Amino acid sequence: MSPFSCVNRVSEGGLGRSNVSGPVVSLGRVGGDFPVVPSRDSWRSGPQNPLWRRRMRVLGKPLDSTNGEIFANIGVSLSKTPQCCLVTSGAVNYHIARTQRSSTELLDSIDPRRQNYLRLGAIVKILLASPRGFCAGVNMAIESLDLTLREFGSPVYVYHEIVHNRYVVESFKKKGAVFVDSLDEVPRDSVLMFSAHGVSPETRELAKSRNLNAIDATCPLVTKVHLEAVKYAREGYTIFLIGHEGHDEVIGTMGEAPEAMILVETVEDVAKLEVPNDAKVAYLTQTTLSVDDANKIIAKLRERYTNLVNPPKDDICYATQNRQEAVRVICQNSDLCLVLGSQNSSNSQRLRQLADESGVPAYLIDGAADMKEEWLEGVETILVTAGASAPETVVEETIAWIKERHETEVEPVMIREENVSFPLPKKLRQLTKSK
Ligand code: SF4
Repeated sequence: MSPFSCVNRVSEGGLGRSNVSGPVVSLGRVGGDFPVVPSRDSWRSGPQNPLWRRRMRVLGKPLDSTNGEIFANIGVSLSKTPQCCLVTSGAVNYHIARTQRSSTELLDSIDPRRQNYLRLGAIVKILLASPRGFCAGVNMAIESLDLTLREFGSPVYVYHEIVHNRYVVESFKKKGAVFVDSLDEVPRDSVLMFSAHGVSPETRELAKSRNLNAIDATCPLVTKVHLEAVKYAREGYTIFLIGHEGHDEVIGTMGEAPEAMILVETVEDVAKLEVPNDAKVAYLTQTTLSVDDANKIIAKLRERYTNLVNPPKDDICYATQNRQEAVRVICQNSDLCLVLGSQNSSNSQRLRQLADESGVPAYLIDGAADMKEEWLEGVETILVTAGASAPETVVEETIAWIKERHETEVEPVMIREENVSFPLPKKLRQLTKSK
């Protein structure tokens, strides 16, 4: 039996404003000239008809396929869905509406290049988180490197990645920046930039001793933590630095008072501390931690050290907190979370982790090239956000990738406004002033 014999009606080129009460199956070419999904008006009537929406999702999986089985799947899906309305367009439309052939014949007759475009149409909604992407510190660091390259020409050496983002680092390499992990790699008298994550005093001294023209693009909010470390150490405190071992920022901060600082990475670490319970103790944190994780560690420290002191203002920066808050809120209405950012970006990893912990599958990706079709199967609403070091270009490219494959609506969701900015490093300001 042809699977189409159980179809209630065939509608060419979308449903228009027609009133559909049953399940809907839509076939067609994504992004083609013809609408391949129920038009927006009729789709919006979906919520009044839960069965319809549910059906669209259930059928989405077997039909959203690009291999030869799609034909068999269409047959199975339709025969399980009596009285559905089949919406078609393009080549599919022609064959179904005019010939009423069997599914096998139908699919055999479709241009093989078009078979890849066959899918069940369903609107994917993107909730575009705001704030997302570049923070004030990253903006400042990127502008600084841009300006330094313009003023001094290439090469400009950069100690560690200017910010933890592959796209940004690769584009600076093309402009003549040379990223190094040791000052031994930098020829004497060269121009050197310290990245947004900050460096230890030892590294600054080494740069001086090699007569390097050093420009410091450390984020002022990282510098704030350095100054707190110096102050507490001078006052005789043992400082617990809550952070991730090996992170550039942690290495730089620990370097301010290595003899007074102890790294605490987990709640379990607190019990292992060999500092007496009545010691003079303070804590500081890395700027890009998970607020929830840090609070758990701080609570454990307070339990053990009743005289624990802390800086007057949070070390976890405004950008980290705002991006996490946006994910926490928007996740409640999302089926999937895409975080744009690099794997070595701490704040981006925390966004992915937060979505995951909220029960929403989450992926941290550098850009559209990392996307996988199967992530979108059965998904209606996608939260898209970006870590503080990820440029808007990669967000736009990822949304374009989704739009190429699905009818897509993008809804910006503003959780908090941000209008923070930091001045360029003093040396660069002086340079531009003297021009
Ligand atoms: S994430 Fe926060 S601390 Fe890091 S560069 Fe941005 S503003 Fe500065």
